[in-house]
Amino acid sequence: MPDITTFETLDREIERIGGKPIVLEALWAGDTGGWYLLLYIYTVKGIFFFKRTTRHLLGEVSSPEGIEYFTNGKPSVSLLAEQFGNKASEKYNLTFYFPSPKDTDEDCPAWTERHLAITCADCSKLIIPTDSPHLPKDICYDCHLTREENEKLKDDSPADGGVHMYLYKDDEYEPIGYCTNFESFPIAPFIEEKVKNRLNENAIDIVKLDRQDIIELKGKLENALDQKLDKYEIPVIDERKKRFIITHTLKYKGKEYELMRNFNDEHIRISNFIHSVETAEKAIAENYIYEFYFNKGITYRDDSFLRFIHYVCHGRTNIADISNRYTNILTDTEVLQTLKKLEQLRCVMISNDGVQITQLGQCII
Ligand SMILES: [Zn+2]
Repeated sequence: MPDITTFETLDREIERIGGKPIVLEALWAGDTGGWYLLLYIYTVKGIFFFKRTTRHLLGEVSSPEGIEYFTNGKPSVSLLAEQFGNKASEKYNLTFYFPSPKDTDEDCPAWTERHLAITCADCSKLIIPTDSPHLPKDICYDCHLTREENEKLKDDSPADGGVHMYLYKDDEYEPIGYCTNFESFPIAPFIEEKVKNRLNENAIDIVKLDRQDIIELKGKLENALDQKLDKYEIPVIDERKKRFIITHTLKYKGKEYELMRNFNDEHIRISNFIHSVETAEKAIAENYIYEFYFNKGITYRDDSFLRFIHYVCHGRTNIADISNRYTNILTDTEVLQTLKKLEQLRCVMISNDGVQITQLGQCII
């Protein structure tokens, strides 16, 4: 099955199948490797009573190298498929059938299954209704996710919380990691006591570990790591399991260790400890401190606003643009209240109509 990158490739495939092409169909298929946009052709062969329509897979639509995954909010392969479809319609006077050009969706009917389909109540896309008892029957999965997201925005539901860790010096922040719970950081057992004592009841709590704290932490980490490495065993991997297991080699105190990155908790712990020692060494050598940002009073809506300002508007925008983004979801008053809250939390700065994300705002998303 060829990759279809040009109309010429597609046309060659249509010619190869032969017969009279009547419908060109573009449908999404997904697996663990991602989404694929597949093209099929329906052709009629034979004459009078012996006419038969058959469906043939032509290939996968594939963007030329260097093209971004999305173009103008649509998957780039969708735009390509639409170009190919229009050219094919002109050349063969066929019907181009592409039920989901905007979203990747596996639940769309094939051309011949349209009688089994319904129209999504929100986006009008043709879909085969889901048989899952947990999902609504009248809308597609994407619209279901959008409705859920909009509900969380309207309700101002609490976000997951979470903790971000940075190395910090002279207004420079280097992200080290994010965990939903502080306890999941590999270094947590060694600093838990200290960090808990320094926590307050603020919506965003910042806990700092200074140079002395980091030197102490490094000592504890090295002790724990030495104990683990005393019992280190080279991985013995069964030939049949080989393709499921990932290993890497890490150097510590001049010695190399081959470590499994999955299916071996002890090896994963050793890798995490080696990386944690390296981070501590870097902090000590280059005068960084550790900063932990605990998001406790941040809602789904706050997080969405900060992400919109930071990622979509590149850090700076105005109130009207933010209101537009949440049209039909939030009222202007709700938008203003949220911005006021974020201003009080020092996550944004507002001057006249302009809104700008602060360093603190960036550190918690
Ligand atoms: Zn829909």
